[in-house]
Amino acid sequence: MPLSPLHIETPLLRTASDYSATGLPLWLKLDALQPSGSFKLRGVGLLCQHAVAKGAKEIFCASGGNAGIAAAVAGRALGVPVTIVVPETTPAEVRVRIAATGANVRVYGSVFDEANAHAVSLATERKAAYVHPYDHPLLWEGHATLIDEVVKAGAEFDCVVTSVGGGGLLAGIVEGLRRNGLREIPVIAVETEGAASLNAAVVAKERVTLPAITSIANSLGARQVAQHVFDLLAVHRIESVTVTDAQAVAACLKFADGYRVLVEPACGAALAVADVHAGLLSRFKAPLIEVCGGIGVTLAMLETWRSRFLQE
Ligand SMILES: *Cc1c(COP(=O)(O)O)cnc(C)c1O
Repeated sequence: MPLSPLHIETPLLRTASDYSATGLPLWLKLDALQPSGSFKLRGVGLLCQHAVAKGAKEIFCASGGNAGIAAAVAGRALGVPVTIVVPETTPAEVRVRIAATGANVRVYGSVFDEANAHAVSLATERKAAYVHPYDHPLLWEGHATLIDEVVKAGAEFDCVVTSVGGGGLLAGIVEGLRRNGLREIPVIAVETEGAASLNAAVVAKERVTLPAITSIANSLGARQVAQHVFDLLAVHRIESVTVTDAQAVAACLKFADGYRVLVEPACGAALAVADVHAGLLSRFKAPLIEVCGGIGVTLAMLETWRSRFLQE
């Protein structure tokens, strides 16, 4: 019997045609409203369910961001303890936020890679589940449910706009399109400048490791995309575009005013495409934008970004 999912079915809204510079009504898939605040619960929830069904009694994850929060929410629903391993550089407020979800916070190493390796070894040693933030087939299978929902709702769309970090969401969307017989539908893959590891790979025609992440969109801050995601470039139509941090922030503010929902700049990046790359989207009739959400945003943070990027 299939397990009933830990994520919820999120609303699908249609904007007025004057919402963006495209002049088109846009479909918005509101994954910001997932119980974990982002789409991540789709894949992370499925991965954790599978692991627990196979006997895992604990969950380990190394992300202090939305993947970690999703693991915490999944662990709580499944009744198993969750430990999030973070490097020493993780700010106190992030540690507090993780602890508030009920997950244990363990500090290890000076960079993410060290914390991650520690999470992997703890999980292996204790036969526990390990949650990678973007690189696992069950994550892609879980993320694909967002496309299932849009198809089930009967919405007609002819391209999908999504932001890209390590590419788990992109891989899920491509899988969702394929399993619904929509392999012709292209995906516009958006990154912020300073976090554009997919764009760099497209240009170089091979996977690239960025020397550093310089964008404020830290949920997009994977220095390299997953190998599977790079391989998808050869089999699915994926157009890689970038926006600036300022453009992503402007889109967050516009979305907050228009829909009264806060999203991270990582999500603002996808929303920004309808204004920044309006010409690209105007080639389509009915774009679908994945509003991926994220909890790393408050009104005060948006105000700070507004004064830093938009008032000169
Ligand atoms: C994780 C995340 C992304 C990027 O997802 P990837 O699977 O790493 O590409 C984008 N936006 C938000 C809010 C996220 O949490």
